[in-house]
Amino acid sequence: MKMRYFTFFSILVLLSILITSCTDDDDNDVILYECPDCEVDGIIPAEDDVLPYLEVPLRDDPKVIILMYHNLVYGRTGSIYHRDIYNFEHDLAYLRKNFKIIDFYDLEKINKGESSLNSDAAIITFDDGDLSVYHLAFPLLKKYNFKATFFIVSSLVSKETGYVNWEHLQEMVDYKNSDSLNLFTIGSHTATHAALGDLSIDEVRTELTVSKADISSELGITCDLIALPYGSGSDNSDIQNVIREVGYKASRTSEYSVITEFPTDMFLLPGNNIENYSNDVFVQNMQFWLGRN
Ligand SMILES: [Zn+2]
Repeated sequence: MKMRYFTFFSILVLLSILITSCTDDDDNDVILYECPDCEVDGIIPAEDDVLPYLEVPLRDDPKVIILMYHNLVYGRTGSIYHRDIYNFEHDLAYLRKNFKIIDFYDLEKINKGESSLNSDAAIITFDDGDLSVYHLAFPLLKKYNFKATFFIVSSLVSKETGYVNWEHLQEMVDYKNSDSLNLFTIGSHTATHAALGDLSIDEVRTELTVSKADISSELGITCDLIALPYGSGSDNSDIQNVIREVGYKASRTSEYSVITEFPTDMFLLPGNNIENYSNDVFVQNMQFWLGRN
């Protein structure tokens, strides 16, 4: 009998150790993917569940990286533009521990010497205006209290299935965090997702002016950021001149690079495409791109 009591007691102790070790894991607590306690659809957390900012490593040589995402999906796919939401949230958790999240306007202030960086910083961007930016990225970015810029193809908005509509974008533009700070910016990704380098200069001007005007009038904002589809036109001085002439303040290319010197050229900003690899590859790439361990 004594042996049976001992076995029963041992199992109880083992079970309590297991349960305690599961619930005390801080890192796992950050990730709410497939969270059974979450209020919306069991996956995306409630809006008031905003994570506080963490202290990030201080740097004598701060660098800025611009991340380029496209669509978010559930589960792996064959397309390099479809990032699985599980890996995406782990990207955000990694960024939270290592980077200050800024936007293009913050970068402009750093350029002008109106503010300074004492840590590495990241700018989060999404291209194309896929519907997942509203349904999946928007709630997660609110949870992490991260700024982001969405470059949309103006002719697809409210017209093409699978893309955002103007009401989605208005809600994102109007959103303010608990510090009354707007987190989200809408920029142009041209009117028709044209490779500008393949167009006449008049066609380039039309792509740039029509998308800028539509975004500005539909959302009641000034659209002054552009991301070049395929990075096309970044090496063409005529196109670069038109981008300035029609009133854009910054232009993002598709070049894999990190900003290490300030002021930087706001019309040749890099864009590091984040593909559908797992989060540990993302972290390795970030360390490689930044030159950090
Ligand atoms: Zn695109």
